Amino acid sequence: MSLETAFDDTDRPSGKIIQDCVHCGFCLSSCPTYLETGNELDSPRGRIHLIKAAAEGRIPMGTSLVKHLDLCLGCLACETACPSGVKYGSLIEMSRGQIERRFKRGLGEKILRAFIFRIFPYPRRLRLLLPFVYLVKALGLKKIFPPALLNRLSPSASSMFHMLPEVSSALGETLSAFYPALGERKKKVALLNGCVQGVFFPEINRATVEVLCATGCEVFIPRNQGCCGALSVHSGRLEEGRMFARRLVDLFTVLEVDAVVVNSAGCGSTMKEYVEILRGDPVYSEAAAQLSAKTVDVMEFLSDTGIGTPLHPLDIRVTYQDACHIVHGQGIRSAPRELLRSVPGLKFTEMLQSDHCCGSAGIYNIVQPEMSAKLLSRKIREVEKTGADYLAVGNPGCMIQIRKGLLNSDSKTKIVHPVEILNWSLKGGIG
Ligand code: SF4
Ligand code: SF4
Repeated sequence: MSLETAFDDTDRPSGKIIQDCVHCGFCLSSCPTYLETGNELDSPRGRIHLIKAAAEGRIPMGTSLVKHLDLCLGCLACETACPSGVKYGSLIEMSRGQIERRFKRGLGEKILRAFIFRIFPYPRRLRLLLPFVYLVKALGLKKIFPPALLNRLSPSASSMFHMLPEVSSALGETLSAFYPALGERKKKVALLNGCVQGVFFPEINRATVEVLCATGCEVFIPRNQGCCGALSVHSGRLEEGRMFARRLVDLFTVLEVDAVVVNSAGCGSTMKEYVEILRGDPVYSEAAAQLSAKTVDVMEFLSDTGIGTPLHPLDIRVTYQDACHIVHGQGIRSAPRELLRSVPGLKFTEMLQSDHCCGSAGIYNIVQPEMSAKLLSRKIREVEKTGADYLAVGNPGCMIQIRKGLLNSDSKTKIVHPVEILNWSLKGGIG
């Protein structure tokens, strides 16, 4: 492949954004991969340098470029840290789009990625995994095949196996299409089901509905939602992501709700970006912008509207992990903390580096299991130092990842979504 063809003109990384980087290096200390490897090419500044060189035809589309861009978590901590406002997220997504179309991966990686993208964004296919989840639990297979053993066979397979959710009474539950407000109706909202959230964490969707209804919302949950496109967009499968986005735009815009509430960080962040993702689409651009404007994270929504109904005491110690696509992707930092602190009796403890990625990052923990494991170990050490009974985090991917780390280290800390804690407090008891 000639140097000129490293990137083509389809979804090309923006030259303007590349130029915005003044190479100051303020972002380096916020980058989890740079902190681990110490290699400038694994930092935001180094990656922008590589993307610029590829865009200018100075380096080819090859393993060296792909290796450093693949190792990026897409956590967007560098965007928060950057004083020049460099939109790094757009650069990495567009560059990954180029890699996806123009780089030939090895057979093993191709099969792994094909498996992920044929299963994960499709709730009906994910449901087919549920019998396996029960079997793993019934036979105690996670204990029989610990990560150290499976890692020797395949770190990616080991990571996927140990990410399988725990069996709960709600597992596989499907929610109704409509829930009325309790008392006077103040708002009409819709809820995103989410693929992983909807199938593996229905109890979080149920808690979200119960809290919303208790605060005076009537809640619509459109059927057959499918994926929001976050996994695809963050992995450079841009056309696939746009296809999923159009579907949700169709489903949600007809409802004419006050807000579309999302309880999953990556999904909320992506839906707020539909305005960019579908910009230029002659049919969908306007409706996409409307949907983006109505999309809110559940904690952001509750903080704005107020709970408006008494909270009961909970005698628990809680710490909070900032999911990357909530804190860096959506700029939401104080709302979840303030809501948790508003629960009487709840003792809130800050965790050091709460806004550093846990290594989950969409499909990262499967395709980059070694770096993911290092970041998870770092995270578990910080969780343990807090002595918290519960770690609250607003994203299913982070929950799966950190729960795996907590179980493997026999930690006493349990992981929950912050909306579950609010629901316990509204009901007056845990569970
Ligand atoms: S997105 Fe995260 S991992 Fe990637 S360069 Fe930025 S800070 Fe580093
Ligand atoms: S991305 Fe921002 S913080 Fe990082 S080197 Fe460029 S201008 Fe500086």
